[in-house]
Amino acid sequence: ASRVSQEIAYEFYSSHQREQNLEQLVLEDELIQALEESWFRVFYQPKIDGNTGAIVGAEALVRCQHPQKGLLPPAKFIPIAEATGLIVPIGLQVLEQVCQDQKQWNNLGLSPLKIAVNLSPLQFRQANLDQTIANLLSTHGLMLLPNFLELEITESCLIANVPRACEILTSLANLGITLAIDDFGTGYSSLEYLQVLPVNVVKIDQCFVRGLDTNPKNASIVKSVIQLCHELNLQVVAEGVETVTEARFLQNLGCDQLQGYLFSRPVPESEFYQFCLDWTASEVPELSNLLPDF
Ligand code: C2E
Ligand code: MG
Ligand code: MG
Ligand code: MG
Repeated sequence: ASRVSQEIAYEFYSSHQREQNLEQLVLEDELIQALEESWFRVFYQPKIDGNTGAIVGAEALVRCQHPQKGLLPPAKFIPIAEATGLIVPIGLQVLEQVCQDQKQWNNLGLSPLKIAVNLSPLQFRQANLDQTIANLLSTHGLMLLPNFLELEITESCLIANVPRACEILTSLANLGITLAIDDFGTGYSSLEYLQVLPVNVVKIDQCFVRGLDTNPKNASIVKSVIQLCHELNLQVVAEGVETVTEARFLQNLGCDQLQGYLFSRPVPESEFYQFCLDWTASEVPELSNLLPDF
């Protein structure tokens, strides 16, 4: 390339960089404003029992209700929140909201559901995480319901220091909290984790679930993971279930829980509550229709 075109390329690159940094700064400022002005919303996506078709829980998924830009998905703000450390207070707001919603559903007479909250690696490494969570539960009068809280961590929380991760997880398990490994199979998966860590649940990543019924490699992987987990006394959740054939396939493999757009997208609290009422009231005909094997 000529020198001129190199210079032009450099100019282009640096102005692009500047724009990116500026955008990052704006976003960081906005995240602080979002924390102060309560722009964060917790959406819920149900998890369905693979045997009975009952709703057994839900995953809490954060969104940001931006006054100008509309509803932002995590992909738009979690990376910056992670990079700046703001994920810690954001994560705390999510946990608080989940406790409030649990309490409200409890008051409305809904039988308690296990709600899974995603923990960022930074949150996971906060000192006294167990104390913070214990305080939250007791503040919301949920001390008797700790087994209705589940925490999802990714393998990136575990790689740096397995003994330390084990300590943190043990302190959380001692509170009665259920622990899940999220996106299983995409990170530096090590079978050692399954052997030494006090986890209860493994969530198979959607990339293995997608097209499971037509992709023999995915089918083999999912089948083996389910078998291995069951031998280790771990529950298996399949995420990203989108089609009836995928669901039926997973059901036949003995997958414990199914989660995905097939059943519901993540929805706001009130919509989720209504979804639970309808699902129970109709004694899951939706699922019987979808999955005649039930
Ligand atoms: P994740 O924990 O693996 O969550 C599953 C993601 O898959 C969610 O995306 C969910 O909406 C999406 N999903 C569920 N079913 C289907 C399906 O059938 N098809 C497809 N294509 N997608 C499906 P979402 O809500 O955009 O969240 C993305 C990621 O952001 C999450 O992945 C999680 O890593 C992170 N995240 C979300 N909420 C929180 C939070 O409160 N704290 C932290 N630290 N991270 C969060
Ligand atoms: Mg998750
Ligand atoms: Mg996941
Ligand atoms: Mg994921």
